Amino acid sequence: MMQPVIFALDDRLANPGDTLPCAGHLDERAYSLGDHDFELPEGIDYDLVLTNAGEGILVTGMLSTHVVGVCDRCLERAEFDIDGEVDEYYLFEEPAGSAGDKDEDDEDDIDFQLVNPDGTLDLSLALQTTLVMETPFVVLCKPDCKGLCPVCGANLNEEDCGHAEQIRLERMGTSPFSALKDLKLDD
Ligand SMILES: [Zn+2]
Ligand SMILES: [Zn+2]
Repeated sequence: MMQPVIFALDDRLANPGDTLPCAGHLDERAYSLGDHDFELPEGIDYDLVLTNAGEGILVTGMLSTHVVGVCDRCLERAEFDIDGEVDEYYLFEEPAGSAGDKDEDDEDDIDFQLVNPDGTLDLSLALQTTLVMETPFVVLCKPDCKGLCPVCGANLNEEDCGHAEQIRLERMGTSPFSALKDLKLDD
């Protein structure tokens, strides 16, 4: 879903223990996750450190972005910030035995990416993982969003249409509406 962010390995990361900072900005404007569509009006900022860890390149650091989506309860605009940790391992070579033999029950199976044969790696894979992990499963405009009335569709954050109270009383088996109405009419 994200544009590739190709980083070419060079002498600065040739030996185990070598590290290299790598920060930047991506003009990524949107992403989708499940049924949700999100906008990224300010793009994505990342601040990473690449480390030669012997068997591969460890990519760690931070991703930050501002996300605009739609509230799951009231369908109004919902915004949140993501400041997520990036932690991805790009192996130089596919580990022996794992190729073509994906055992889903293997609890030791560690998630990893691969360094490309041409000595490049795609940082977008690491950034995308963080973006997905940090995106809330339920998107809300505010933690206590009251949502829409199931009867009339009113946004309950903005108005009280009265249906919630009516439903509550009906469930309790006491529905003294005529009496209440009479009282109020006389005011
Ligand atoms: Zn809402
Ligand atoms: Zn209502």
